[in-house]
Amino acid sequence: MTTSHHSDLGTALEQSRSGLRDNHRRSLMRLLFLITGSSLLVFSGLQAVNGFWWVAGIELAVSALLFFGFVRLYSSPHLQRWIYGYLTVLFSFFLAIMLFPDASVSAFVWVLMMPVLAYLLLGKREGLLLSVPFMLAGGVIYYLHLGQVDSAYLVIDLLNMTLCGVLMLAFIHLYEVRREEAEQRLVDMAQSDFLTGLANRSNFQSTLARTIAECERSGSGFALVIMDIDHFKLVNDTLGHDAGDLVLKDIAVSLEARLRGTDFVARLGGEEFGLILRDVKSAGAYELMEELRQRIADRELVYGDARVRVTASFGIAHWPEHGWQAETLFRVADRCLYNGKSAGRNRVARPLTAGSGGFHSDTAAQCVR
Ligand code: GH3
Ligand code: MG
Ligand code: MG
Repeated sequence: MTTSHHSDLGTALEQSRSGLRDNHRRSLMRLLFLITGSSLLVFSGLQAVNGFWWVAGIELAVSALLFFGFVRLYSSPHLQRWIYGYLTVLFSFFLAIMLFPDASVSAFVWVLMMPVLAYLLLGKREGLLLSVPFMLAGGVIYYLHLGQVDSAYLVIDLLNMTLCGVLMLAFIHLYEVRREEAEQRLVDMAQSDFLTGLANRSNFQSTLARTIAECERSGSGFALVIMDIDHFKLVNDTLGHDAGDLVLKDIAVSLEARLRGTDFVARLGGEEFGLILRDVKSAGAYELMEELRQRIADRELVYGDARVRVTASFGIAHWPEHGWQAETLFRVADRCLYNGKSAGRNRVARPLTAGSGGFHSDTAAQCVR
C-alpha cells in the first residue's frame, strides 16, 4: 500500500476561483503591484518636474501603498480582497483619467484592459460582474467626451470603440468558458478509471484522507472496504480479456447502483475495488457488504454463448475502531480480505475485535467471516 499523499487536483481546482491557481494569482498580483508602483513613482517625478505638486503627491502616496501591498501579498491570507481592492481602484483610475476635460482619446484604450485583468484574476463569473459596470461607465464617458455625435467621423469613432469593447469582452468570456471546460475534462480524466468510469486509486486516497478529516470533526464513523474479484484470471484465461473487461464494468455498475449517494467507490487497480461507507456502524457495514456479495454472486452475465458468473471477497475496516489513519485502515481491510480469500473466497471478512482504545496491529490478523 502506498503511503504517499497524492496532490488533490480536484480540491485544488475547487479552491482556485479563477483559471489560475492561488499561488499563480498571488505572484501575478505582486508583479502588477510592482509594475504599477514603479510606474507611478516615475509619473510622480514627472508631475513634480512639471510643477503639479498635488498630483505628484497623490501618485507618490499610491505608489507607496502599492509597494506596501507588494510586501504584504507575499503571505497575506486575504488574496481575494487585495485583488478586488486593486482592480476597483485601478479601474476607477482609468475612468478618472478619461474624465479629464482634455483627456486624449488614447486614454480610452484602458477600457479594453479591464476584462483582460478581471477575467485573469477573478475567473469567468466574478470577472464578468466586475468588468461590465466599469466598461459601461467607460463607454458613457467616451460618449460624453465625443460631445455632439453629428459627423460620420464621430459615429465611426463611437462604433469602433463600442464594437471593440463588446467583442473583446465576448471573446475573453468565450475563451474562459472553453478553458474551464477543458480543464475540468482533464481533472475528470486524471481522477477516474478509464475502463469503468469509477474514481481511480489516487482519487480514492484523497477522498479517504478527506473523509477521515471530516469524521474527526463530526465524530461519526465510517467503513473502508476493499473488494477483490475471485479467480478473475480464470475469466480472462477462458473467455478472453474483453470478457474480463465486461465483468469489471458490470461490477462497477452493480456497486454504484447499490451504494448510497454519500458512499464512495473506486477501482483501485486490476480487479480490486475500494469503498467508503459513511455514517455506518460496524454491523451495518457488514450487512451491507453481505448483501452486495450475494448480489454479485447471483448475477449472471451473458458474453456471446457463454454465461459468466463471478464472486468477490470483501475486507472491512471501521474508523476509528480499527485505526485512525488511512494506512492502518488499509492494512486491516487488506488483511481481512486475504483471510477471506484463504478461507475459500466469496465472503465478507471484518476484524474479530475492536480495540477499546486505538488499534493493535496483532488484532488485524484475526478476522471473522
Ligand atoms: P484471487 O481470487 O486470488 O483474487 O485470484 P485472481 O485470479 O482474481 O487474482 P490474480 O491477481 O491472480 O489475477 C488478477 C487478474 O486480473 C490478472 C489480470 O490479467 C487481470 N486484470 C487486471 N486488470 C485487468 C483489466 O483491466 N481487464 C481485464 N480483462 N483483466 C484485468
Ligand atoms: Mg482477484
Ligand atoms: Mg487482485
